[in-house]
Amino acid sequence: MTGPEKDFDWDSLTFSLTQTDVMYVATCNLGEAWDEGEIKPYGMLEIDPAAGVLNYGQGIFEGMKAQRTLQGRIALFRPEENARRFQRGAARLGMPPVPESMFIDAIEQVVAANSAWIPPSGRGALYVRPVLWGTGPIMGVAPAPSYTFCVYVTPVGPYFRGGLSCIDLLISDQFHRAAPGGSGEVKAIGNYAPGMMPSKNAKKSGYAEVIYLDAVHHEYIEEVGAANFFCIKDEVLYTPELTGTILPGITRDSIIEIARHRGYEVVETLVSSKFALAADESFCCGTAAVISPIGTITHGDSKSVFGDGGVGPITRELYNALIGIQTEIAADPFGWLHAVDEELPLNLC
Ligand SMILES: *Cc1c(COP(=O)(O)O)cnc(C)c1O
Repeated sequence: MTGPEKDFDWDSLTFSLTQTDVMYVATCNLGEAWDEGEIKPYGMLEIDPAAGVLNYGQGIFEGMKAQRTLQGRIALFRPEENARRFQRGAARLGMPPVPESMFIDAIEQVVAANSAWIPPSGRGALYVRPVLWGTGPIMGVAPAPSYTFCVYVTPVGPYFRGGLSCIDLLISDQFHRAAPGGSGEVKAIGNYAPGMMPSKNAKKSGYAEVIYLDAVHHEYIEEVGAANFFCIKDEVLYTPELTGTILPGITRDSIIEIARHRGYEVVETLVSSKFALAADESFCCGTAAVISPIGTITHGDSKSVFGDGGVGPITRELYNALIGIQTEIAADPFGWLHAVDEELPLNLC
């Protein structure tokens, strides 16, 4: 429980791993209850080479942020939603679900025990990474006999240090992220490695990320890498509807609610690439980047520039509204903040 060095340089933080003091680990056998779980020093885990997660990808993850708010409190943002998504993912991958109260309790404990690692208000956040793996050995393709639920955290910098800036995206004509009936709507670990090569190639060509179209018609926008997509036309927001192949982002859901609360019409529908390319503004969103304004989208030989290439006014308004709630600069009319008590009693081993 030492925290960062006295002269730790918060402004050097990016979205990368900085080891913190402690993590949380719980285990369970298939068909039995979870054990108590414990807080232990951050470090290596031992794993059987025949573990289900290593051989067959039986694993899911979550991502959320704990922020030091303007009021000095520590706040999580809608962690109950992450808990529910984690349960749906566990069910889809044949894993024992982590009860919501256990999930929230584990996160509160890890965040409180690592509170010295939460950046000062406005200079970043503590990124919280819950994972659930089939860690028991299994040879046949079947659910592992035992499971590990682990939560670790790392401080991350603000995504946009110099204020919001636009990104350039490329629509992929070669790759898809998810197919109907697959696992696209859960944060299954196996969904992410296949996107690394397309993303890396796009970056080599100067794009920030790829946009995936649906795998059936190759016409409708699904996601931007691992972020959800929005576009705005005549002051109406459009976002791909949740068809089972799209990850139901909590940021996506929050933006829909905030926009409606502010009087905007929001339509969840099939969003064709043709429609999106003709929009006035567009952005992608997720926990890490919050809202990333899109400056251009390239598809084959055509390149679309949104507005004058700068950040659109509605995109900026929604970004300020969401950040405002998360950092307690603004009121929280939806009751989304979940305060964490720094003095939480710990389940220390
Ligand atoms: C996590 C994730 C998102 C964003 O979800 P949030 O809950 O907003 O962080 C979007 N798409 C994919 C594929 C993701 O994995």
